[in-house]
Amino acid sequence: MSAHNAESVTSSTGARVLVVEDEDPIRDLIVTALRFTGFEVQDSASGLDALRRLGQDNIDLAILDVNLPDMDGFTICRKARAEGIVTPVIFLTARDAPADLRAGFTGGGDDYLTKPFSLDELVLRIQAVLRRTRDRQRADEQSRLVCGDVTLDESAYRVWRDGEEISLSPTEFRLLRFLMRNPNRVMTRAQVIDHVWDYEFAGDPATVETYISYLRRKLHDRDGALIRTVRGVGYALQDDGAIHRSGNQQERP
Ligand code: CA
Repeated sequence: MSAHNAESVTSSTGARVLVVEDEDPIRDLIVTALRFTGFEVQDSASGLDALRRLGQDNIDLAILDVNLPDMDGFTICRKARAEGIVTPVIFLTARDAPADLRAGFTGGGDDYLTKPFSLDELVLRIQAVLRRTRDRQRADEQSRLVCGDVTLDESAYRVWRDGEEISLSPTEFRLLRFLMRNPNRVMTRAQVIDHVWDYEFAGDPATVETYISYLRRKLHDRDGALIRTVRGVGYALQDDGAIHRSGNQQERP
């Protein structure tokens, strides 16, 4: 079924969950319940082992018991976040004192459950956290324009060419964004002025040319293979591959 990809995005079935709990009966209960629900489950009784596994990047969500013999769950999470690991975390805690819970969220946790809890409740929390994580990832993807090896993040105001970050002025950024929203289409100087300069523009096309040359220099495009000049008309951004944009709303001039 062609909807398979969309399905796997919205369903949590098959998500990889790491369960970290040192009390064997509780851990076995959780692992069994999650496997029955359809998750792929790894389990561990040690904080150090959990931290190592989180760094291996094949975990979609971690359930961390707070009270572990070698390293407590909050510390695991804090250390993981410090290493740039963004895997969502649900804490299991018997310590329901508010200060502990605050510490958990400050340490980068996404949710917590206080023991004793029902397995149904745990599954619901996991599904909710996975859904929120996917929504956030989708929003990040939608704010990105990609043409060939050029990537532009509209919300973060960042640009990369072939993996190298390029620093652009606000006007250069708007100019590149306008061209990337209209790949392989020739934009006239008038259209560029209209969309890139939002104040009353003196109407000097030479200014557009100047900014195009700034962009080419910064994007290592001195020969104009990326930003092509169509003599007497305007400019076109060459994109040999398909443009990738989740929202696929192109701005029409
Ligand atoms: Ca424990």
